Amino acid sequence: MSREHIEVAIIGAGPGGLAAALYASRGRATTVVFERGISGGQIITTDCVENYPGFPDGINGSELGDLMTKQAETWGAEIRAFTPIDSLSRLDDGHFLLTSEGTEFEADVVIVATGAVPRKLGIPGEAEFTGRGVSWCATCDAALYKEKVVAVVGGGDAAVEEAHFLTRFASKVHLIHRRDEFRATKCIQDKCLCNPKVVEHLSRVPVEIVGSEGKVAGLRLESTKGEPEEYLEVAGVFIFVGVDPVNEVVTGLAELTPNGYITIDHDGRTDVPGLFAAGDVTDSELKQVITAAANGASAAFEALRYLDENTTCTI
Ligand code: NAP
Repeated sequence: MSREHIEVAIIGAGPGGLAAALYASRGRATTVVFERGISGGQIITTDCVENYPGFPDGINGSELGDLMTKQAETWGAEIRAFTPIDSLSRLDDGHFLLTSEGTEFEADVVIVATGAVPRKLGIPGEAEFTGRGVSWCATCDAALYKEKVVAVVGGGDAAVEEAHFLTRFASKVHLIHRRDEFRATKCIQDKCLCNPKVVEHLSRVPVEIVGSEGKVAGLRLESTKGEPEEYLEVAGVFIFVGVDPVNEVVTGLAELTPNGYITIDHDGRTDVPGLFAAGDVTDSELKQVITAAANGASAAFEALRYLDENTTCTI
């Protein structure tokens, strides 16, 4: 059975993968992006991206994802949604073998841009009430909590930004953080914490999501400073406690950091010749749309150079 041959295979259609697809397809390489879900990446669950240049009033995350997708397609990249890559290996001749649900593909170079997924708390009630009050996406679910009380767990940019977004719907937003100061960028904190609907609970750790009649009814919090336990009556619990890299396809193939991020050099090269990586799955410090896109561009540029250097001209 002959395998489809692709010059640049990209795994993941978030900002990193889509920017890589734009650069690779503009470089006239046959470019295919494999995406296990829909195109756009994590930003599609964000109401407003305020810090991507060119949009002075911010832009809805889903709209930005659509625009990036269309731009890559305009240059000839093919985005294959709902096509998960199950395995990736390097063949003896230096090409890469990718499989997706039993179908094999062969690629000259591969750019891994699989991103990261939201972390779970791992406390009682979390799994049981997922979709019934427990959520990882305020943009998707906030409208369900009109005039209700909700809790947001986390102290980073995502938690504080999404707590602010939830104030548009909820009557009160309890913002719970395990330390006594937030990690979020100052301007994000300033905007959120002055909202009278937001109630801060610092140095508090959620220990149980309590349900009643099959849905979330409350949240039990323990103090990290020896203060009495708290019980909050809430209809929803939104969890934003960081993300974990999606590294399964490169585990055992490329070098990873102890936290599971793909180690890359300044130009997006991994330690495997012909294998590049971009975006939130890499060990780059800043995890933003702009850095993922920049990583993607660099990785594609280097991938094209690698293709040139390793392709024999037959004319
Ligand atoms: P993050 O920056 O890693 O923050 C995670 C937060 O969750 C931290 O405050 C952490 O507490 C807390 N946490 C972790 N594990 C916990 C647990 N088991 N129980 C309770 N709390 C826990 O993650 P993020 O906010 O999802 O952001 C991920 C990346 O995307 C970051 O680089 C962020 O800057 C970026 N981002 C940017 C924007 C923006 O620029 N507008 C928006 C969203 C995300 P500690 O502080 O104690 O560690």
